[in-house]
Amino acid sequence: MTMIQPALRSDMSIDELRTAFRSWLAERADTLEQFRELPTDVDGIFSTLSKMQRELYEAGWIRLGWPAELGGCGGVTALRAVVSEELAAAGYPPPFSFATQEVLGPAIARYAQPELATEVLPRLLRGEESWCQGFSEPGAGSDLASLRTKAVDAGDHWVVDGEKIWTSWAQFADRCIVLTRTGAPDSAHRGITALFVDMDTPGITVSQLVAITGEADFSSLHFDNVQVPKSRMLGDVDGGWAIAMFILSCERGAAAWQRQAWMRWRLDRLVADAPGLTAARAGEAFELISALRLLSRRTLRSLSAGKDLGVLPSFDKYLMSTAEKLLFDSALEAMPETVLFRNDRESKDWRTDYLYSRASSIYGGAKEIQRNVIAERILGLPREK
Ligand SMILES: Cc1cc2nc3c(=O)[nH]c(=O)nc-3n(C[C@H](O)[C@H](O)[C@H](O)COP(=O)(O)OP(=O)(O)OC[C@H]3O[C@@H](n4cnc5c(N)ncnc54)[C@H](O)[C@@H]3O)c2cc1C
Repeated sequence: MTMIQPALRSDMSIDELRTAFRSWLAERADTLEQFRELPTDVDGIFSTLSKMQRELYEAGWIRLGWPAELGGCGGVTALRAVVSEELAAAGYPPPFSFATQEVLGPAIARYAQPELATEVLPRLLRGEESWCQGFSEPGAGSDLASLRTKAVDAGDHWVVDGEKIWTSWAQFADRCIVLTRTGAPDSAHRGITALFVDMDTPGITVSQLVAITGEADFSSLHFDNVQVPKSRMLGDVDGGWAIAMFILSCERGAAAWQRQAWMRWRLDRLVADAPGLTAARAGEAFELISALRLLSRRTLRSLSAGKDLGVLPSFDKYLMSTAEKLLFDSALEAMPETVLFRNDRESKDWRTDYLYSRASSIYGGAKEIQRNVIAERILGLPREK
């Protein structure tokens, strides 16, 4: 059992935090060694990362940047970014619970009733529970506003029926932010309500789906007459679109920060492992990852200042998938035997990362959609008919 580090203060600067966290990582290197190489199956990965999360929570590091009433230690939001970046730089895996924290956590802090937020957010930070994101449906991915999962008003609760798909890590999730249709079927983005649903509510069936990596990374969810108390509504009735956009801006913005830190570490590994890597490819990957770092730093600063990001994180998401694909395309090009055929642990990791990088231009909104957003909303080009 660790304890909150004496070196940790809510008013510490970014540089102080970096130094203190690096020393802690060095001091605890023996204990943390178990997290360096993850199991290869999703159950093993999940339980190992949850353990790592608890270790970081008990020492206080991942409580920085969250308000005390939500289980945090206070301080500015930007502190949260330092911990994930330093972990990646030291070669530890990105705890995906961090992604949930940065993608769904802020939405619960902002839109849930205060009693609910104070109940559930500390549990998320402690790694005691995990959440998932129930947005996409068969037929409503890029065109999210056409979603059909219905929520009918039944007095003190909603009754939810429908189907969600591609819900990442749903088999481990205790709760899900579900977008539902509460307006008329053709009400598009004006008739959507966001609900925070307990995954053990009767009527929810989780069916695992195997991804290209061979692991069941995501699931489809069936909702059959699922009763959700009104207290679990996020924001207003028919006001769910704003919450969906807020979550997507966190996903496209803050999550890109963690990804760039991890990619930078992977690039270093690639340079070390692949004598066939050309300087031009390494340089291009370095440029893209560095550009992403700068872009997502701007996004984090805006989030930290409580600014509305609008559609700007579409740039981050676009660049993130461009960088990730280029990095792992370069790996394939420089060491095809390793990525395609070898079965030792490191080769399998390269293969999994290569395959997962294909998804980077799909999840969080497909690349073509980000291009449309940039063209229409930022450059002011006419909408595609
Ligand atoms: C690894 C992974 C994890 C995911 N996790 C989650 C999750 O946790 N929760 C969740 O809700 N969803 C999740 N998703 C789903 C993801 O959000 C959708 O796959 C994505 O939004 C695309 O939707 P779709 O698959 O229905 O494809 P479609 O919308 O059918 O798109 C198919 C192709 O057509 C293109 N296209 C569609 N419309 C246009 C247009 N107007 N202009 C130009 N091109 C267009 C798209 O860019 C894409 O290339 C995940 C997906 C992946 C791959």
